Amino acid sequence: MWIDGEEVESPSGEQMPVLDPATEEPVDSVPKGTRDDARRAIDAAEDAFERGKWSDPYDSRERGRILARFVELVRNQEDSLSVLLTREHGKVLSESVSEIRSLENTFEYYAGFGGKIFGSITYTRYGKDPLELKVARKPIGVCASIVPFNFPISLFAWKVAPALIAGNCVVVKPASTTPLTEIMMVRLLAKAGVPKGVINLVTGPGGTIGEELVTNRKVAKVAFTGSTETGKRILQLASNSIKKVTLELGGSDPAIVMGSADIESAASALFTGRFRNTGQACNAVKRVFVEKSVGEKLTARLSQLIAEVRLGPGLDRSSTMGPLNSAEQLRIVESMVEDAKARKAKVLAGGSRPVNIKKGFFYQPTLLTDVNDDARILNEECFGPALPVVEVEDLGEAIEKANMTRYGLGASIWTKDEGERRRAENEMKAGMLFVNYRPFSTPEAPFGGVKDSGLGRELGFEGLNEYLETVSIRTYMG
Ligand code: NAD
Repeated sequence: MWIDGEEVESPSGEQMPVLDPATEEPVDSVPKGTRDDARRAIDAAEDAFERGKWSDPYDSRERGRILARFVELVRNQEDSLSVLLTREHGKVLSESVSEIRSLENTFEYYAGFGGKIFGSITYTRYGKDPLELKVARKPIGVCASIVPFNFPISLFAWKVAPALIAGNCVVVKPASTTPLTEIMMVRLLAKAGVPKGVINLVTGPGGTIGEELVTNRKVAKVAFTGSTETGKRILQLASNSIKKVTLELGGSDPAIVMGSADIESAASALFTGRFRNTGQACNAVKRVFVEKSVGEKLTARLSQLIAEVRLGPGLDRSSTMGPLNSAEQLRIVESMVEDAKARKAKVLAGGSRPVNIKKGFFYQPTLLTDVNDDARILNEECFGPALPVVEVEDLGEAIEKANMTRYGLGASIWTKDEGERRRAENEMKAGMLFVNYRPFSTPEAPFGGVKDSGLGRELGFEGLNEYLETVSIRTYMG
C-alpha cells in the first residue's frame, strides 16, 4: 500500500494473493488492509490537503507540469506495465498497451487544465448598494477513488487525473483482483513529484476498506465505478455524511442495426464492441436488435469474425482474446448462456468453455439468436463474451426493446437514414449514443449513464467539475 509518501504493509500482516487468470497461479500478493489502514490514508490525505502546498491556487500550472512528467514516466515503461496488467487481469497484451496509453491520454488531457481553472467576477446593486460577486472554483478536499477490475488503469486515470489537477488529495482503492499495476502508477506519480500524502493507495476488501472511504467524514467525495448493486449501497452509506458521489455503474448497452446500414462495418464494430477485453466492458455492446431483412447477413458476418478469434493466454502474442478475470466472472457468464440455451436460444458460435484449454478462466466467444425476451442475457448485465442478436420488425420495436432494461449507459445505432438517426437520438434512454461507430471513450467527451447506470459524469470538463466546489463571494463595494 502507499500511505503518506511511503510504501507500507498493513499492521494486520495479512496478505491477499493476486492470481493470473490464464494459469490460476499467483502473480504476487498485496496487504489485506483494514479500516485502520484506510483511516491512516485518509488522515494523510487530509493533512496534505490542509497543510501542504498541493491545493494552493497559485500552483495550478505546477500541478499540470507534474502530471505531464508522470505521463512521460509511464510512456518510458509501457512494455513492463502492459505485461504486469496482462498478468493480473488476463487481457491480451495489445489491449493492455492500449489501456496504458489511455491512461497517458487522460492524464495528458487533464494536465492541460493547469492554470486554466477559473471562476468569474461580476457586479450588481442590491437595492442601492454596489456589490462585487465573485465565483471561485476550489478543490474539494480528500477524494476517494474506488476502482473496478475490468479497466483498472483507464479508470484509475478517469478519477485520479481530474482530482489531482483540481488540487485535491486522493485515496485509491483498487479491485482486489487487479491492484498491481495501480500500485506501480502511484509509485510513478510520487516519482514525478506528487508530494507525500497527496496520493495514497490502500488494498483490501471492498466491504471494509471501501466502506471506510465511503463513510468517513473526512472524505469529501467518492468516485465509484463498479456494479449497480455496490453503487446503491455506496449511495446509501454516503448519505450519512452528505458527500459528493459519482457512480459509474453497470450497463446492458443495446445496438440497433437498421436495414440501410453498412452491415460489414456494423458487424466489425459490434464484434469489437462486444468481445474486446473478453466482454468485460461497461459500455460493451451487450444486446443487438437487427431489422429482419438484414438479420442473417449480420449474424453470418459476426460468426465469421468469431471463428477467427484465437483464445489463449494474454501474454501469448498469437492470442486475440484472453480469459475472464476470475472464476466468479466465468461462472456468471456461463450461467447466463445456459439460461438462454434452456429457453431455446440458438447457439451460432461458442456456448461453452473451450474443451482444449484446461486451466484458466476461459470462455468461448458466443453468439446467440432466437433469444427469449425473458432470458437473463437480455435483461441483466452480461459481463463476458456472449452476444444475443434479436430480429425486429422496425425501429419502433427496436427502440422499445433497447430501452427495456433498468440500465441506460450507452447505446448505438447503425443506419444511413437521417430520420432514423434523429429518432434514436430523441428516444434512446442512455447517457451516451454512438452513431455508425463502435462504443469508445475519449477524455474530451463526458462519460456516464442514466437510470441504474449511474450518477454524474467522468471525463471532459464535466468530469473536472465533479472535483471542484463552487464558492460565491459577495463583497460590498461602497
Ligand atoms: P464491484 O462493484 O464488485 O467492485 C468495484 C469496486 O468496489 C472494487 O474496488 C470493490 O472492492 C469495491 N467495493 C465492493 N464492495 C464495496 C462496498 N460495500 N463499499 C465500497 N467499495 C466496495 O464491481 P466489479 O465487478 O469490480 O466491476 C464490474 C462492474 O463495473 C460492472 O457492473 C461494470 O459495468 C461496471 N463498470 C462501470 C463503468 C462505467 O463507467 N459505468 C466502467 C467500468 C465498469
